[in-house]
Amino acid sequence: MNRVYNFAAGPAVLPEEVLREAAEEMLDYRGCGLGVMEMSHRSKDFERILQDAKQDLTDLLGIPENYQVMFVQGGASQQFAAVPMNLMKNKVADYIVTGQWAKKALAEGKIYGQANKIASSEDKTFTYIPDVSDLPVSENADYVYICENNTIYGTKYKELPNTKGKILVSDQSSMFLSEPCDVTRYGLIFAGAQKNVGPAGNVIAIIRKDLITEDVLPGTPTMLKYKTQADNDSLYNTPNAYGIYICGKVFRWIREMGGLEEMKKRNEKKAKVLYDFLDQSKLFVGTVEKEYRSLMNVPFITGSDELNAKFIEEAKQNGLVQLKGHRTVGGMRASIYNAMPYEGVVKLVEFMDRFEKENA
Ligand SMILES: *Cc1c(COP(=O)(O)O)cnc(C)c1O
Repeated sequence: MNRVYNFAAGPAVLPEEVLREAAEEMLDYRGCGLGVMEMSHRSKDFERILQDAKQDLTDLLGIPENYQVMFVQGGASQQFAAVPMNLMKNKVADYIVTGQWAKKALAEGKIYGQANKIASSEDKTFTYIPDVSDLPVSENADYVYICENNTIYGTKYKELPNTKGKILVSDQSSMFLSEPCDVTRYGLIFAGAQKNVGPAGNVIAIIRKDLITEDVLPGTPTMLKYKTQADNDSLYNTPNAYGIYICGKVFRWIREMGGLEEMKKRNEKKAKVLYDFLDQSKLFVGTVEKEYRSLMNVPFITGSDELNAKFIEEAKQNGLVQLKGHRTVGGMRASIYNAMPYEGVVKLVEFMDRFEKENA
């Protein structure tokens, strides 16, 4: 077996320890005689898996009593609709558009009500986060929506917006559990699992309990009501049980590594190696304003499409894969999520250095 360093933005690298453990349990989960994929989601064994996952997540983030943790399906994109369907009581919501994912969420919001774009960084191809300290938040807005880490562009909010008392909804897909987070500042956090915590299709939603009501938009499907998921503890229908199982293992892995403070420290250390290299390089350039750099997604370019393509190809031959940038940005992107080892980033930087010298 020859594992590569996988810099994909998602589905992305998972901790090797987690994958090995899952492999060992694939055919016979802890003496059950069957695997988790074959197991009833109503069985005692799965109930344990689900509750342990929830507990570990709760402990990691310090999620208070008045918040509900839910595992839902349909990817983060499904939440672009679920959020307005559940929360748009006045049919008004404000969106801060800092990239493609926020833009998509805004477009979806418009289907259900008056979704306002109150700030945007599109004027400079999303290379920064706008000033969010004093935005024209709508009087009757049901929530203010952000995408907190922009997977495609590689920017991250360093401060949360002043929502002027409105509920904050955050798409944390590509930064979930990468550092500590004060859950009490949000009405709702959701994250697609495939960036930092598990298999695609799984979504983790953390919602303040008073926001879970029957008062949803007419026509909201039963499956998309947060109340349905909360009342049934994520078991209204057959959940993505195997995905929850893997997420649970990743939560446990993070705990064993020392928790979110430790994750942050590691992630900062990894990102520093890469950003420091970019800052002194004469060939490679980071594409975003330094102040807003993401710890997770690092886009960079050489200024020549030909060299970019050559770099991506040669990196691949050196076991450094999935470095091609998003089609809307071009160039390269290194996603260095929790599970990317420090050595992987060092290898990447060494390779970049070599490539720069050879192509000077
Ligand atoms: C990947 C991503 C999404 C979309 O996730 P799906 O699970 O494919 O729907 C949404 N938001 C952010 C920030 C992402 O990185």
